[in-house]
Amino acid sequence: MKGFVLFLLLLAPAGLIAQQTPIERIEPPFWWAGFKNPALQLMIYGKNIGQTKVSILENKQKAIEITAIHTTENPNYLFIDLKFRAGIQPGFFTLNFTINNKLSASCKYELKARKPGSAQRKGFDNSDVIYLIMPDRFANGDTTNDAIPGMKQRAYRSNPDSLHGGDIKGITSHLDYLNDLGVTTLWMTPLIENNQPIYSYHGYSCTDYYKTDPRFGTNADYLELSDAIHGRGMKIIMDQVFNHCGSGHWWIKDLPSRDWLNQWPEFTRSNYRSGSMSDPYVSAADSLQFSRGWFDKTMPDLNQSNPYLRNYLIQNSIWWVEYAGLDGIRVDTYAYPFKDAMSEWGKRMLDEYPGFNMVGECWMNYPATVAYWQKGSHNRDGYISNLPAVFDFPMHDALIRAFNEKEGWDSGILRLYELISQDFSYPNPLNLVTFADNHDVNRFLDTQNDDVGKLKMAMAFILTTRGIPEFYYGTELLMTTGPDKGDGMKRKDVIGGWPGDERDAFTAAGRTEAENDMYNYMKNLLRYRKTSTALQTGKLLHFIPRDGIYTYFRYNKKNTVLVVMNNNDQQQNLETSRFHEMLGKFKSGKEIISGNEISDLSKLTVPAKSVLIIELH
Ligand code: CA
Repeated sequence: MKGFVLFLLLLAPAGLIAQQTPIERIEPPFWWAGFKNPALQLMIYGKNIGQTKVSILENKQKAIEITAIHTTENPNYLFIDLKFRAGIQPGFFTLNFTINNKLSASCKYELKARKPGSAQRKGFDNSDVIYLIMPDRFANGDTTNDAIPGMKQRAYRSNPDSLHGGDIKGITSHLDYLNDLGVTTLWMTPLIENNQPIYSYHGYSCTDYYKTDPRFGTNADYLELSDAIHGRGMKIIMDQVFNHCGSGHWWIKDLPSRDWLNQWPEFTRSNYRSGSMSDPYVSAADSLQFSRGWFDKTMPDLNQSNPYLRNYLIQNSIWWVEYAGLDGIRVDTYAYPFKDAMSEWGKRMLDEYPGFNMVGECWMNYPATVAYWQKGSHNRDGYISNLPAVFDFPMHDALIRAFNEKEGWDSGILRLYELISQDFSYPNPLNLVTFADNHDVNRFLDTQNDDVGKLKMAMAFILTTRGIPEFYYGTELLMTTGPDKGDGMKRKDVIGGWPGDERDAFTAAGRTEAENDMYNYMKNLLRYRKTSTALQTGKLLHFIPRDGIYTYFRYNKKNTVLVVMNNNDQQQNLETSRFHEMLGKFKSGKEIISGNEISDLSKLTVPAKSVLIIELH
């Protein structure tokens, strides 16, 4: 019996006092004093908690006001609206829950002190290059968490769709590798708990919004990773999902309300047509199925038009920024949630953190449809987006075609020129996150018949044209998807990340000659980009491609960089008089990748299928 009592105490959240009505959860679990928004809505979960009355003890100078209490048709939930008086000090207060004037439950709630400068944080920006990591597949820094009692899946490396054992410590222990490579910002796919029986490795089926998955580590490990990243002058982006949770989420067994999820008479998938949200001719049926259909059977579709759920998700997002000191958020399936809720989310994030950056996965193939979602767009349907950055999916599409197609009037390298020419659609083209691949698509090398020259061209392009470049872990190691194009194969393990691997690709000695060549190509370019404000935020001027050669300049008052992309299979001798308006005032330059000095800019020799990046003097 004694053992049983102890077990219950261990399960109870910190701060709970003996009670008749067990409070199983209070979320957010704590908050901070001093946000611009003085309101906080607590979700309290416990048997029949909805039938209690709530009051606040230790409420010095009435610094906290209960402005409203909401119940739903499920008596096990209570939503408490609190308002904090300006200047409220950090500390604890006690919430008492009573039935018929008898104390039924009580808990302490903490308001922490915010870190100095927290509200002024600067999000990732054009000075950054983002490196995308799928933590389960990067490095296994702690084999003791590969199997955790109570977690439905354990590491089983030979199955590409299973958990492989990579974790937070695996990332923390390779920060020097990433720093040496020259990336500045890490985006990890979600590290949040995914206690799902299958596919739990990818992180997009959340089962607890406030908890790091124990197979990746603890919240403290995540904090340590964030501190270690910041310690190297790097930034951290968290991947958040508002559209759906996992079928194993604790809500699912006892939903706060029936409309917490978008429910259908029978399982109904989204039609995945993201463009329908901006389509002026959309039918109600298509629109409804897009945003209220489920992404997958194991991903219950959250109904963000429910005000409590909306608030819950927004507060959760703020909680992680404040808790982990984030520099940015990447939002999964951005167009799928109720779009007014996402607009409110963006506004509230920017109200608290005006310099912050968030990028949405708006997976559409045209600049016009992507631009609809960027903050500042003048949308004819009146939709106001508060999302500063969007992924440049149209560029991804253009990159795949550009180097494979035969040069023609509307094919080949022209794809890149025409794509960039449509930037008038975007309120802020500099805040596009550009990429050649990510965890959801085939690796770029696979789309180019494993041609490393074409991969280098793609990398040189995203690192020199406008935008904030992102590249996928292992690109620098020539990782491929291989013939089996399943999701698991797009997310292979890094060789050397696991004890007992045949070699360690994280070290120069452990890499093949070809891998070292690619690694050094990336390192060289990344190093240069760090020093070049022209490549980061400079203006762009480009010339219509001719004979398979695309030429553009990035420039500001201090610095001008000339980029020449030769998409031909032969070396070309480029006569440059056509570029006089940009080139006229320069006499010489230095090519960044080869290090060659160029004393005569009137003619340039451009090797087959390659890019020259020339800093002009
Ligand atoms: Ca592990």
